[in-house]
Amino acid sequence: MPLVNLIGNTPMVYIDGVYLKLEYLNPTGSHKDRTAYYMVRDAEKNGLRKGNLVVEYTSGNTGISVAWVSRLLGYLAVILVPEGTSEQKMRLIRMYGAELKIVHEGEDGHGIAEDMVKEEGGVYLHQTENMANFKAHYETTGPEIANAARHISCFVMGAGTGGTVYGAGKYLKESINAKIFAMVPRGSYVQELLTGKKEEDMAIMEGFSYHSFSELLHRALDEVVDSLIYVSAQEAIEGMKQLWARGIPGGPTSGANFYHALKLKKEGCIPGTIVADSITRYPKILEKVID
Ligand code: PMP
Repeated sequence: MPLVNLIGNTPMVYIDGVYLKLEYLNPTGSHKDRTAYYMVRDAEKNGLRKGNLVVEYTSGNTGISVAWVSRLLGYLAVILVPEGTSEQKMRLIRMYGAELKIVHEGEDGHGIAEDMVKEEGGVYLHQTENMANFKAHYETTGPEIANAARHISCFVMGAGTGGTVYGAGKYLKESINAKIFAMVPRGSYVQELLTGKKEEDMAIMEGFSYHSFSELLHRALDEVVDSLIYVSAQEAIEGMKQLWARGIPGGPTSGANFYHALKLKKEGCIPGTIVADSITRYPKILEKVID
């Protein structure tokens, strides 16, 4: 079986009244394998040829997923990461054979990615506005959740690109009429823009968006999201501890998802959410939380 066939069809478990889709069991350890695979396949339909460059600008799990998918499908991944990206993530990206470029403060990562593809060919995936990111979750994550738990009545998911809450959310709204809750961090740019309020908080939810408001999240808010939640670092830590107590090694964003799923359950709905990745990817946070 080709290794890319291992993406998706992750298990769903029912814990404390919440349906949890265990996305950290994807091959490289996050739901971003789905996104990377869909974006590269979509680029192939638009003319990407073996040996071409596949470029992405990201500090997150997407870089690892794009490096892995590109290696398996015969492309040369170039991952641009902002200065300050964790050493461990950079090593994982290089481990799968991708070229890594650090984008320094003041440089325009998107511009560099666009220029690279103009000069050398290939594709710049640009996940924050790539509809293949939405489609990955509309066609796979959403249907898998609905098939495993048809009586879910609400779905909560924090947003980075917004691809998951938009894609899975749209499918769950259309198919089983679930209410859709998106989350962004307290203290984020989105919160400041929408509420006019500037709050201070620890930025530990790596994967949720602190500094930008992506095109896909805009669309999600316009089309599918019923309510937007501002989640704090403390809530994410609380949620992580509760996940760990149940034997699930979720990372900070998954802690945030679980915390608010439990809250929604108390308010009377039957929640579904995802465990996006694992705490093993964040040794520094693990150190802080476990004394
Ligand atoms: N959690 C983690 C750990 C992530 O890496 C991401 C992706 N940035 C998200 C949540 C948010 O997913 P999405 O980009 O689909 O909004």
